[in-house]
Order: sequence, then C-alpha cells, then structure tokens
Amino acid sequence: MKVANEMKLILNSSSVNEGFARVAVAAFVSRLDPTLEEISDIKTAVSEAVTNCTVHAYPDGVGPVYITVTVIKDGRVRIKIRDVGVGIEDIERAREPLFTTGGEERAGLGFAVMESFCDDVRVRSKPGKGTCVTLIKTVGERDE
Ligand code: ATP
Ligand code: MG
Repeated sequence: MKVANEMKLILNSSSVNEGFARVAVAAFVSRLDPTLEEISDIKTAVSEAVTNCTVHAYPDGVGPVYITVTVIKDGRVRIKIRDVGVGIEDIERAREPLFTTGGEERAGLGFAVMESFCDDVRVRSKPGKGTCVTLIKTVGERDE
C-alpha cells in the first residue's frame, strides 16, 4: 500500500475536544480538494466516532483517543479512531441502527450515520481492550 500522506493526533476523550478533532481532520483532508459535501460528510462521521469514545469507551472518566488520517492514494482517505476503553461485546449488534447501551439520551444511530457518510466503515473491538473504528472515504475525484 502506497501511503501518500499521514497525520496522527492524540486527544483526551473529553467532550470539549470533539469539535477540534473533526475540524483538524477536515483541515488535513482539505488539500485533496474535496467538495464541501465531502468535507461535511467526514466531519459528521468523525464526530460520531469521537463522541462514542467520550460517551461509551471511558464511562468512568477520560482516556486517550488516537486519530490517524492516511491518504492511501489519490483522494482515498482512511481515518482511524481508536480508544483503549471498555470495548464492544457484540460488534454486529452495536452496528445495528437504533441499538444503544446509552439509554434514553442516545438514539443508537452513530454507526448508521458513519456508514451512510463514508464509503466503508470497519470496527474492531475487544472487551476490556478498546475499539478501533476505520472510516474510508474517497474525496476530490470529480471531472472538471
Ligand atoms: P448515538 O450515536 O445515536 O448518540 P449510540 O452512541 O448509542 O447513540 P452508536 O454510535 O451507533 O449509537 O453506537 C452503538 C453502541 O455501540 C453504543 O451504544 C455502545 O454500546 C457501543 N459503542 C460504540 N462505540 C463504542 C466505543 N468506542 N467503545 C465502547 N462501546 C462503543
Ligand atoms: Mg454514538
């Protein structure tokens, strides 16, 4: 795999960092000449993944969120959002629309949103070890 460009960011899972995370990823991707819609899609998906770290991964406090953005080749971007929190017992179930362990406050739509705004979403997780969500999105590939 040819890596064209890459950036890494480590944040704590505090909710105040969610806005920074999505803007930082969007800024890095911007030089690939994405459409406004593509940038908006990326911000939305990153926001859902990072918010899950805040809300679910570290229920009793704050922990690290590792974000890696890789431009795999022209316009194909891979965004990994990883935590070392509680992990997910049943990934397939967690990805189902409307499934939530967050009670009344949560809609259970975060993964569904990520899937609809990205070309591909992969989830790896181990209970007690943490979760890694990989978002794949192709940007800036339009005929002028
Ligand atoms: P919403 O995103 O609509 O506010 P939600 O966060 O519950 O609700 P999803 O984002 O789809 O919905 O996540 C579904 C479920 O997967 C969560 O309720 C939680 O149980 C689990 N989950 C998601 N991300 C993580 C994570 N990083 N660590 C641990 N559990 C997670
Ligand atoms: Mg969520």
